[in-house]
Amino acid sequence: QSLFNDVPVAAKDPILGITEAFLADQNPEKMNLGVGAYRDDDCKPVVLNVVREAESRVAGSNFMEYLPMGGMKAFTDLSVQLAFGEDAKPIQEGRVAAVQSLSGTGSCRLMADFMHRFLPESRIWIPKPTWANHHNIWRDAQVQQEQYRYYKAETRGLDQEGLLEDLSKGKAGDVVLLHACAHNPTGVDPTPEQWKEISKLMKDKQLFPFFDMAYQGFASGDCTRDAQAIRVFLEDGHLMGCSQSYAKNMGLYGQRIGCFSIIAETPEEAKAVESQMKNIARPMYSNPPLHGALLVKEILGNSDLKEQWYEEVKGMAERIISMRTLLRQNLEDLNSTMPWNHVTEQIGMFCFSGISPEQVDSLAKDHSIYMTRNGRISMAGVTSKNVSRLAEALHKVTS
Ligand code: PLP
Repeated sequence: QSLFNDVPVAAKDPILGITEAFLADQNPEKMNLGVGAYRDDDCKPVVLNVVREAESRVAGSNFMEYLPMGGMKAFTDLSVQLAFGEDAKPIQEGRVAAVQSLSGTGSCRLMADFMHRFLPESRIWIPKPTWANHHNIWRDAQVQQEQYRYYKAETRGLDQEGLLEDLSKGKAGDVVLLHACAHNPTGVDPTPEQWKEISKLMKDKQLFPFFDMAYQGFASGDCTRDAQAIRVFLEDGHLMGCSQSYAKNMGLYGQRIGCFSIIAETPEEAKAVESQMKNIARPMYSNPPLHGALLVKEILGNSDLKEQWYEEVKGMAERIISMRTLLRQNLEDLNSTMPWNHVTEQIGMFCFSGISPEQVDSLAKDHSIYMTRNGRISMAGVTSKNVSRLAEALHKVTS
């Protein structure tokens, strides 16, 4: 009798299943539209030129020591400026607690554990649908979850009415998870006016916003514009939490580099909160990894590199936006009877196509095109070379 006899095999991650099926497919024209990682127009992974430049500048720095528990201070300072704006009042007033995190996932987990420890009465409100890992993260941190309506299948857009109605049921001190931009998986973001309504309701109800910002710059191509939701909430005087990730916008996926911050009421509160963030990190991983922090600090801390990064992130966003235009155009040229306006109206890495799980299955079986069964297309895998084949296949399975 082995000690591990009763350990069941864990359910397969749906994305891994797709990748496996894709790899086993012999069709040379196969397409993997499951993964959420950027690809260039040849479907190749990309290392940004600015990252190569930063690598060359930090090479040989001989700095291999442990970072402190909260990570690199110069990095977190630059990160919160990027999220909240360089002249943000809470920064000037010393009211921002921040630690370097293990990318967006790590930030969310620190927030979830912080809630478990210090906000035991608070529930987390999660949009329906959301990035599936949100549910796992708050479940493992043993925080009670509620869901709010977000996506309206009939319009393939935002269910603002449902969202406001559901959030109005929140109780003071509850935390609301908001995707700052490029909502995953729907690609549907509120307009600035809708953000204002959400902010006002949350202020009235004393709900605490937690922004998951995994795609700053990746939605519109403009980092400031992509932070507009946060700026709206700042204007309304909210305290808030924020998760930042440099996985997508700097292409630093495997470096696990991000920032977790909380705006508190006073500098004293921020100091206490930050000390507890570090306390949560300590028994989990002691201190965060060094290399990504060196790279991001180099890029955000030097105006020439920062400019270059802005250009490169814009280039990635624009490639995706142009693929949306081409995909819609191709579908309309095929006289598809389905509406495809949402393809260009949605934003960010994903297109929530609206096709059924059965239609997703036939795309895989008959066309070697792979995506998650909720019909989410990773636009990063669409190129000028495969977009017409994708449109034809989508047309076939939907007509
Ligand atoms: N949050 C959202 C909404 C995401 O889509 C992702 C990645 O897909 C993440 C967080 C976390 O990514 P990472 O941990 O690689 O930064």
